[in-house]
Amino acid sequence: MIKSIGVIGAGTMGNGIAQVAARAGLSVVMHDVNDELLSRGLSAIDKSLQRDVDKQRATAEEKQQIVSRIKPTTELTDVRDTDFVVEAVTENLAVKSDLFARLDRILRDEVILASNTSSLSITKLAAVTSRPDRFIGMHFMNPVPVMKLVEIIRGIATSDATYSTTGELVLAMGKTPVEVNDSPGFVSNRVLMPMINEAIFALYEGVGSAEAIDQIMKLGMNHPMGPLQLADFIGLDVCLAIMNVLYDGFNDSKYRPCPLLKKYVDAGWLGRKTGKGFYEY
Ligand code: NAD
Repeated sequence: MIKSIGVIGAGTMGNGIAQVAARAGLSVVMHDVNDELLSRGLSAIDKSLQRDVDKQRATAEEKQQIVSRIKPTTELTDVRDTDFVVEAVTENLAVKSDLFARLDRILRDEVILASNTSSLSITKLAAVTSRPDRFIGMHFMNPVPVMKLVEIIRGIATSDATYSTTGELVLAMGKTPVEVNDSPGFVSNRVLMPMINEAIFALYEGVGSAEAIDQIMKLGMNHPMGPLQLADFIGLDVCLAIMNVLYDGFNDSKYRPCPLLKKYVDAGWLGRKTGKGFYEY
């Protein structure tokens, strides 16, 4: 039975995961590299829970209890006594590998290590630890408190017991686990990113304007957001990085990133976060 969880990284995804875990009654140890990042993470949690209170989805007292279950720390060793650890640090193989090697030395043998990576190989990350059978991908969607799906990725060595413990934890957190095997982009980004990339090609080739492409996918296919609007929301640098993971992972030209996507990233037009992408913000 998982009663406590270590969350590594207090950024966009990490603070969301800490929030839903604490809301489910787990004690949470949330780690990041400095106090400023931790307090930014805590204030994002506070803001999100305050919205729940304002909309009467939680009481002020419940909010207080949830927050009190989250212990922020800059010491990685403080996760030592947790039952399960999920990593949500920067998407970089060297950074994650170093972190998992350290966690492997700190944690009890039976503790499962999970990564929230959107594109790195679970099998490869697991291989830096001495517990590849107790290693799994746990891919939450953004924003974590809102989105129902958690894509659960089995590495080549992930055991059935690890899968079932992780699946139960996801259910306890009020989310729906869906099982897939390790492969570039898993299922979510394997299907989503080529669609976004194709929409960018349609714009690049002058088939339609950005507004026309998005409107067609919204009104015609019932997508809540058009693909170019969604690309701006995700970040064009992130979209390009994931296309490159697919391209390199399969060695297949069908995944080549659109030249227009590369050009926008070169220009620093990364979407919402920089105020300009396919649209202006
Ligand atoms: P972010 O930049 O908002 O947060 C990352 C945090 O990790 C930062 O606060 C950083 O200080 C911290 N960090 C970096 N190295 C660390 C280390 N060694 N130890 C402890 N903390 C460290 O990034 P994010 O958007 O939250 O993404 C985190 C992970 O989640 C990435 O692997 C990303 O691919 C994945 N992901 C992101 C999204 C999304 O939409 N943002 C969706 C699904 C998955």
